[in-house]
Amino acid sequence: MIDYHIHTARCHHATGTPQEYIAEARLKGLTEIGFADHFPLDLLNIIPSSPVSMSAEELTAYLEEIRELAEKNKDITIRLGLEVDYIPGRTEETADSFLSLPVDYLIGSLHFLGSWDFTHPAEKSTYLEKDLHELYENYFADMGKLCRSGLFDIVGHIDVIKKFGFLPQIHLDQLWLKTAKELKENDLCLEINTAGLRAPVKEMYPAPGFLQYCFQENVPVAVGSDAHSPQEVGYKIDDAIALLRKVGYREVATFIGRKRQMISLEGG
Ligand SMILES: [Zn+2]
Ligand SMILES: [Zn+2]
Repeated sequence: MIDYHIHTARCHHATGTPQEYIAEARLKGLTEIGFADHFPLDLLNIIPSSPVSMSAEELTAYLEEIRELAEKNKDITIRLGLEVDYIPGRTEETADSFLSLPVDYLIGSLHFLGSWDFTHPAEKSTYLEKDLHELYENYFADMGKLCRSGLFDIVGHIDVIKKFGFLPQIHLDQLWLKTAKELKENDLCLEINTAGLRAPVKEMYPAPGFLQYCFQENVPVAVGSDAHSPQEVGYKIDDAIALLRKVGYREVATFIGRKRQMISLEGG
């Protein structure tokens, strides 16, 4: 079992040391994990209202610490990743800051629309001011730009705009299918992320119907819990795998040095 989306206390909104996450992964019988802590927002010229990433000064220590832990804990495969925020234009302009790093994979995620951190509980009330149909159109327009940027290996929590349960009264099929095609055309890996089950929406990212389109378009998939505390490592990964199998997936993606390697779901 694999979990490719694990944070640490370095990002200021998670708890626990990397060692604690590894211990929990071992306890739960995971065979491969990947740390993907939040890349410094200051290096992307984004200044959030409260700190939600590691700082630029911590980046080298993070990379070194995870590499060292991977060396010391050979009983479990430990990969080194980063979750990088995507803001159209801004992330492209500052891309040298993360493209030059020796990581196994980069997750590209949307958390901001303009200066609004729409994933932050403290900024939840802003949804009430929005036309939800327009909001979803805007969100998926930015997602298209993220896909076409060519900067990332995996797209994180692809429909996280639904996190707080603000859902428009329209069918999302067209947006889902268009996005699935963008993933495929840009050789990107989708992430099935179980954090949505812990959020008010109570549904994985992506929605089952969205996942179906991704399978139909032959988009590879990686698996992640988006753990922000050690006990969340491996959270409902079994359910995610079961859903993948049900939809038709027979393998999942892993990464080494930004190269994708598919591993079989059969028998495991
Ligand atoms: Zn986070
Ligand atoms: Zn995220």
